[in-house]
Amino acid sequence: MDRTVDVVVIGVGQAGLSAGYFLQRRGFVPGSGYVMLDHSAGPGGAWQHRWPSLKLGTTNHVHDLPGLALDSDQLDIAAAEVVPSYFARYENHFALPVRRPVTVTAVRPDGAGLLVSSDHGDYHTRAVINATGTWERPFWPHYPGAATFTGRQLHTADYRGAEEFRGHHVLVVGSGISAVQLLDEISQVTTTTWVSRRPPVFSQAQFSPEAGRAGVAVVERRVRAGQPPGSVVSVTGLMLTPALRAARDRGVLHRLPIFSRIVPTGVAWDTGATVSVDVILWCTGFRSALEHLAPLHLRETGGGIRMTGRLATQVTVEPHLHLLGYGPSASTIGANRAGRAAVQEIDALLRD
Ligand code: FAD
Repeated sequence: MDRTVDVVVIGVGQAGLSAGYFLQRRGFVPGSGYVMLDHSAGPGGAWQHRWPSLKLGTTNHVHDLPGLALDSDQLDIAAAEVVPSYFARYENHFALPVRRPVTVTAVRPDGAGLLVSSDHGDYHTRAVINATGTWERPFWPHYPGAATFTGRQLHTADYRGAEEFRGHHVLVVGSGISAVQLLDEISQVTTTTWVSRRPPVFSQAQFSPEAGRAGVAVVERRVRAGQPPGSVVSVTGLMLTPALRAARDRGVLHRLPIFSRIVPTGVAWDTGATVSVDVILWCTGFRSALEHLAPLHLRETGGGIRMTGRLATQVTVEPHLHLLGYGPSASTIGANRAGRAAVQEIDALLRD
């Protein structure tokens, strides 16, 4: 069934919901003016898939969506419970035109606008706000010998809790926030080894809004230059939280340089050193889930997408397309701000 709308929002996590709110505020009519497509069975975006031991109180703060606060003091409840129910409340409160489960399979040029193809038909639209996040694109780096490893390998995205590793030696790979949080958690039930490509940069100071803004500014410069975004934490460094100080005092934060190859029973370095492990946990981050945008040929030779607009949400080569949750808006607070900016710019573009 073909439909024609003004705006299609792809993805209904924090970023998509923020866009839906501001579209409604700008007078776009739910259903005929704009639709919101998401292929998850329920509300919550990536939060519905987070591991159970990630409590609301141990996240890096989930910012309220515009217009309706999370208002939860349930800090010791799983974020995977609290946030999806908040998002469901939000969708109902604003009667947002969410269609799910709908998988967008491709976005193509379509005259002056774009054609959004999905497993539930096509949408001819004048503008697209893409908010498909990163959760579905876990990044697994390649190391020689990976296929020979006889133990278990999993990514952050597959992690469900530390208990299942009791009695096994776990190798944690990565130097981001998830890596050190899971290293701390797992090291409380079993033995661990920690490796990363780059030495982690720990910041003694509390996470300040200035540090956050500085980190976002670096990522924003990168995407405006058409470079891959990189991660904000690679700029801000890792905050030494009380839990991480305790892990350090337990001798857990002893980081080794990344290994050269993987062997059937563990990992090995060119120096001849080896470590036998039962599990390799790849906390090696995520990439943006943008495969459905491939027909638009957005990527520059360096692999990034050149962005423009007030908050670098607009795609330079395709002004009818905005990317939220990409680069500088890849955080809950960034997604909120980007939603407002993208809708303002789309509204102006469509009026023109
Ligand atoms: P998502 O929440 O991932 O939502 C994307 C939606 O798009 C999903 O519902 C998915 O079903 C849908 N989708 C994807 N592809 C398609 C398609 N082809 N068709 C239809 N629908 C599609 N940020 C913070 O600010 N605070 C934190 O504490 C924090 N903790 C984090 C912990 C982890 C482990 C990770 C990985 C990230 C964390 N972040 C945190 C970052 C934060 O998750 C994101 O910035 C934000 O929640 C992502 O929102 P989003 O809307 O961009 O994407």
